[in-house]
Amino acid sequence: MNVPYITYAFALVTTQLPVIQTKSSLADAPRVREPEATMPSFTEDEWAGMDVSIRRGNDHDPSWFAGVENDPRVRDATDFDLVIVGAGISGCVFAERASRELGLKSLIVDKRDHIGGNCYDFINGKGFRVSQYGVHLFHTRHERVWEYVQRFSEWMPYEHRVKGAIERRREGGGTGGKKYEHDGREYAVVPIPPNRDTINALFPGADLKTDDETEAWLNERRTVNENPKNGEESALTRAGPELYDAIFKHYTKKQWDKYPEELDASVLARIPVRTNTDDRYFSDPHQALPKDGYTRIFENMIMGDPNITVRLNTDFFEHREMLSAKAKRFVVFTGPIDAYYASQGLPKLEYRSLRFFEEYHEPEGGFYQPCLQLNYPGPEVEHTRIVEYKHKPNQPEAARTSAGTVIFKEYSCDHGEPYYPVPNPANRELYEKYRDMASKEPGVVFVGRLASYKYFNMDQAFLNALEIFDDVMCADASSARTPLGEPDGPK
Ligand code: FAD
Ligand code: UDP
Repeated sequence: MNVPYITYAFALVTTQLPVIQTKSSLADAPRVREPEATMPSFTEDEWAGMDVSIRRGNDHDPSWFAGVENDPRVRDATDFDLVIVGAGISGCVFAERASRELGLKSLIVDKRDHIGGNCYDFINGKGFRVSQYGVHLFHTRHERVWEYVQRFSEWMPYEHRVKGAIERRREGGGTGGKKYEHDGREYAVVPIPPNRDTINALFPGADLKTDDETEAWLNERRTVNENPKNGEESALTRAGPELYDAIFKHYTKKQWDKYPEELDASVLARIPVRTNTDDRYFSDPHQALPKDGYTRIFENMIMGDPNITVRLNTDFFEHREMLSAKAKRFVVFTGPIDAYYASQGLPKLEYRSLRFFEEYHEPEGGFYQPCLQLNYPGPEVEHTRIVEYKHKPNQPEAARTSAGTVIFKEYSCDHGEPYYPVPNPANRELYEKYRDMASKEPGVVFVGRLASYKYFNMDQAFLNALEIFDDVMCADASSARTPLGEPDGPK
């Protein structure tokens, strides 16, 4: 069905960018003072009028839009075992398992007008499959998750490769790497995570030919620290100061509005530093794209199942009493945990949000940039990355052969949809207080990235939901346990 596509409004991020404090380097590029980054100066209203995309390509059941108060199928129903808040990975796993394993009935509500949570994708007005909440790449080392997701989609093998555009005139910009001109600046395009080719491109004097030489180059620079306490220590221990400055420091500031030293070590540890020339973003054994997009997975999980009722455009908190009373067994809450306890007077947890600026182009050759995801780790522009979905092989045939292409410039901001928990000691301490309340809450199970305030990848969200389902619904199912590992561990 066609649902009108609301544009992404955009807020100006007015961060004052610092003069870069560069460290000693092998680069031959001259040191220069950075200008302040400029941002497009549109108002919210102007941004709101810019996008004419139409969402299509999904099969959302029309009954999902019937609301909860006036629809007797929900209002008068007394047989829901579970009321599930959120139709993302966590909510859909609970409903699907409850139905297929135990024959239980669920009502899922989501305040958005679609299922899939942050994984939601759709075909836009120009015919490209795009993700509403940022590009998503599936990867996992958990066999249980890989087996589970294959039940709901055909998958095509796909190894994500990210490049970084490093401005050449910056120290560490080097002269190697593929030359790329964009918006009046000249960049070197290098592999991210940084590997031997990245170092050779940014620091041409290095001329590294083997893993051992690369190890030695890094060892000359990196600090020995067995127990890095924050993101800066973690990156300096693995990368040394020059790569830290070129790849990690400013990207992190743009993404989180915090320097790496203000974040947990685990955030930057997501990105390895490699001595070989492996340029894959992830190293998990299973890396793939759902052939018909992510949304189709969720439709296949829950649509057409008589045990599962879905109501979209429905905010749980607007019907809290009525919906809570309908759950014979549990309310499964997958939204932000601090929103559930908003009336308790604790400070709010900190989240990072994103804004996307969509553009349509018809460039010579049909592509805007050399790869799906091009990161901009420097402070010279405010966007963190540009995503060009046409590079994804699960595009419809017409999109792949189109003369045009759509790109999304990604900006980070502190207001809007809560996308990222912000991992640092203060937020962890505050989250523990919420978790303590949640552990004593009768009849409510808290599941998922926002409810557990953890930087879960998709596979971790699947595994976490499958395992919590086992815990609370199937007392004898613990044999299926898989070690989850660090929730925000390395790629
Ligand atoms: P969500 O997807 O956030 O779903 C929660 C749902 O609850 C939402 O639909 C929300 O509308 C609903 N909700 C909240 N409050 C209420 C309420 N009061 N009433 C009703 N409904 C409510 N993972 C990867 O593995 N690879 C990637 O490449 C990747 N890229 C990402 C890029 C971005 C920008 C982001 C933000 C995340 C990315 N992820 C990626 C992580 C992935 O999106 C999450 O792991 C996954 O979506 C978590 O699923 P969830 O069900 O726990 O939460
Ligand atoms: N990061 C960076 N430079 C990059 C890519 C990542 O500094 O080019 C750091 C940054 O702090 C980022 C973190 O590594 O937030 C995790 O990156 P990832 O790509 O996993 O972030 P996500 O895809 O979840 O936004």
